[in-house]
Amino acid sequence: MKRKKGKEQSFDPARLIPGHITRLEPYSSARKESEGSGTGAIYLDANELPEALQGMPPYINRYPGNETEELRSRIAAIKNIAGDRIFLGSGSDEIIDLLMRAFARSGKDEIMIFPPSFGMYQSRAEVNDLGVIKSDLGPGFMIDSKKALGETTENTRIIFVCSPNNPTGNLQPRGEIIRLLEGFNGLVVVDEAYIDFSPGSSLLPLLDEYPNLVVLQTFSKAFGMAGARVGMSFSSPEIRNTLDRIKLPYNLGIPSVKLAIQALNTYADHRLIVERIIKTREELSQKLALMPLVEKVYPSDANFLLVRTTNAASIYGHLAGRGVIVRRRDNEPGCEGCLRVSIGSDAENSRLIEVWQEYGKETGVVTGRESLSAPATQRQASFRRKTSETDITVRINLDGKAYSSISTGIGFFDHMLEQIPRHGMMDLEIFARGDLHVDAHHTIEDTGISLGKALVKALGDKKGIGRYGFSLPMDDSSASVLLDLGGRSYFKWEAEFSSGQAGGVPTGLYKHFFRSFAEAALCNLHITAEGEDDHHIVEAVFKAFARTLKMAVKQNESDTLPSTKGLL
Ligand code: PMP
Repeated sequence: MKRKKGKEQSFDPARLIPGHITRLEPYSSARKESEGSGTGAIYLDANELPEALQGMPPYINRYPGNETEELRSRIAAIKNIAGDRIFLGSGSDEIIDLLMRAFARSGKDEIMIFPPSFGMYQSRAEVNDLGVIKSDLGPGFMIDSKKALGETTENTRIIFVCSPNNPTGNLQPRGEIIRLLEGFNGLVVVDEAYIDFSPGSSLLPLLDEYPNLVVLQTFSKAFGMAGARVGMSFSSPEIRNTLDRIKLPYNLGIPSVKLAIQALNTYADHRLIVERIIKTREELSQKLALMPLVEKVYPSDANFLLVRTTNAASIYGHLAGRGVIVRRRDNEPGCEGCLRVSIGSDAENSRLIEVWQEYGKETGVVTGRESLSAPATQRQASFRRKTSETDITVRINLDGKAYSSISTGIGFFDHMLEQIPRHGMMDLEIFARGDLHVDAHHTIEDTGISLGKALVKALGDKKGIGRYGFSLPMDDSSASVLLDLGGRSYFKWEAEFSSGQAGGVPTGLYKHFFRSFAEAALCNLHITAEGEDDHHIVEAVFKAFARTLKMAVKQNESDTLPSTKGLL
């Protein structure tokens, strides 16, 4: 946080506000300003009916008054954020639009987005005649803050980060967002519409530190109130006041505000429902992975799943023809063949699976995944490890075809683990859910242990296997991994990093991962790596590890043991 002071001194939202907005007077109602207003006052100022029609709520004849204030103070108390930092809009969609109007000049300025992402950022930019700079998400659908900062121009006013991201479902690394906040002298809007479904925590606690941060949340998702249209933004009071100045006078209806207050009263129920959706999401993900045409179900931190298929149009048409509507996302960059599926009720999810299965029966198309991971040999294993901190399932097929489905909740780590099946030519599924709200430590450590245990199980009696090592260059970096599956555990790590983090994960945890693996897999593992870019160093290590593993587990024609002792 050493740059905190600099940021606080240098960021002034007034710099971004177009002149015509600065000069605006906020809308004022006669009722608010009049001294005589209050209980018993006679309101003949706003051309309302004197009473509500029969059967209607008694307050509905009046324009909204102080109801929004009550909702604001309830949210402030629950989120532990000062009320003057909270702005309420007709859905977060409205706030996205207002932010653009308030902090960017039509026809001159631009926003930055990270495709594939929520379409509203681009469409509201178009409505407001703002340019759109697209900084595509990198591997694992992660933002690359360094690249993005290099792509901004002097007219870039707002960067929109969606985390967890729609449609990819992943949370963005906090370190990357902080780098944007520190390196960009405009607003960084972090859209947390799906944060309640995620193991990660909100960026709200960073508001004090970063005056250019705006966090968006909504009642539409985890509170189940999409129809009420209530969205929230959290920001500095200056940003909030600017939004207040330009909003329509009565942007939230009284019924919606009352319903939102009611929703906050049932906060405990809401948490239960969220927990149920998360559990269902993991079950549905496993089922969908077995469906016809499905290549991959991406890990999700939201209430939907991104499913990569070999023919999105065909499966979409099949489902829609039977009344099951999902969302095509196959035109988005990096989402070729993808459909986005919301987590429904148990009955709805079952129907989805039933209808999807019918596709296979009708067309004779086997599942992409089954055909990839069909058991060629017996060298496969499943291993589940459940503790109070993590619940991890690993499935491995040493003679597979590089099929992978990895979900640990840590985007960059998933991307690294994917190197193992890809470069090791084995099938690997890892499903890990851990206490990421604490930190990544237990999840990474226990994934290493579980992978090691699964490997030992799949290797069986180890007959005919090799015992090798591998070195690999990757741009500025090189990695060498030596492995001996001989049954004794020894771990050596010589890797130097220039920063303490790679992919949002402390670099020490990669060492920890491989140590945990070596201990569980009862192997000698020596890893040496060097380079300039920490991301490259870690990636080179995982790739070299995968190649090593491929050689070491490869079975020769003979079924002899590669040991003079006759025992491994
Ligand atoms: N942000 C994201 C990322 C979304 O996916 C959505 C809705 N699909 C919204 C914001 C809009 O939310 P609201 O209903 O509050 O306008």
